[in-house]
Amino acid sequence: MDTDLLIVGGGPAGCAAAVMAASVGMRSLLIESGDAVCGALRRIPVLSNVLGVTNGPDLAAAIEAGLARCDLCRVELGSRATLIDAFDDRVEVTVETVAPVGPARGRGARLTAPFVVVATGVGPLDPEGVGWLGGVAGRALPPLWEADPAAIDGRTVLVLGADRPLGTVARAHPGLRTRFVVAYPPEDAYKTEEIRRDSRVELVAVRRLELGPSSAPVSAEVRTVEGERRVLTAGLGFLNLGSAPAPPAGAVAADRSGYCPPASQHPRVFTAGDLRSVRFQRIATAMGSGGEAALGAYYASRGLPTETGELPTETGGPPRDVGGPPDPARGG
Ligand SMILES: Cc1cc2nc3c(=O)[nH]c(=O)nc-3n(C[C@H](O)[C@H](O)[C@H](O)COP(=O)(O)OP(=O)(O)OC[C@H]3O[C@@H](n4cnc5c(N)ncnc54)[C@H](O)[C@@H]3O)c2cc1C
Repeated sequence: MDTDLLIVGGGPAGCAAAVMAASVGMRSLLIESGDAVCGALRRIPVLSNVLGVTNGPDLAAAIEAGLARCDLCRVELGSRATLIDAFDDRVEVTVETVAPVGPARGRGARLTAPFVVVATGVGPLDPEGVGWLGGVAGRALPPLWEADPAAIDGRTVLVLGADRPLGTVARAHPGLRTRFVVAYPPEDAYKTEEIRRDSRVELVAVRRLELGPSSAPVSAEVRTVEGERRVLTAGLGFLNLGSAPAPPAGAVAADRSGYCPPASQHPRVFTAGDLRSVRFQRIATAMGSGGEAALGAYYASRGLPTETGELPTETGGPPRDVGGPPDPARGG
């Protein structure tokens, strides 16, 4: 075995799993495909729902420093997991190097451990796969979270989708005089709560939106949920469609929506963070679930049942010792 616990994904969920594992004496190896941990946090200018911090970069720096202090956690940047296999007695993770930061390794290198925490988060939805949108094939619309505030100040922008980055942009720039025309499908109505009262935002619930050919200004023909036909026009257009889970291939079980709930996994596979569910995509819940996933692996290693399930009896045998009992002085 290469370590006691493999962790795939170095966002808040994976990093929380690593330090929780260490607190109960488990060695872990965290595989992150990017060139730093917590890349997503570094793009969040204002945080109002995480205790102790007010912005993403500060939290990312604190997490990075916490991992650096953790003797039992090893972080490997520039390594992407491409396949996860789960067996009765172990898991195997196939990794590939992402140049230039990744370690020198042959193609198809495999890492082995008794358990794996998978916390690979979500990736942006492909607009061409979104049923209510037309006219987007071959169009390079930028994501809203990348919008330069100076470039949209005083302008009308068409926002395709009501995902959470809209709230982040609005909160981060209360003085911005942008008019956001937001077209969204009815199933995303619950996402509009946090920006509904912002006077800069016009919400248009649509069944169908067909984007016109021009990039700036943009125009779009929509059929609203009330059946009305309207033309929306704006100086610029942005994508804000949301995201989809992106686990490595292999043993990670997904439900019909593509998400990977912890309770559906092989007993040696623990999922955490945004990958679990469309409903709980927040930093605090990601960290909590990462800690729970590591504790789940710890209890399983000692033959104690977890929500994921008991290990197969034929190989369960006496529980493998992964360190001493939890040490209350270290928070275990
Ligand atoms: C613009 C924006 C604003 C947000 N604002 C807030 C907010 O105000 N408050 C809040 O609570 N939440 C906010 N969120 C959500 C928050 O960022 C996520 O809930 C949180 O980052 C999820 O953590 P995670 O560890 O599950 O996933 P992520 O942070 O996405 O981390 C997953 C990691 O896995 C890595 N990875 C992916 N695939 C592989 C692979 N195959 N092999 C190795 N590594 C891999 C990725 O590089 C990434 O580093 C915001 C998100 C965005 C995009």
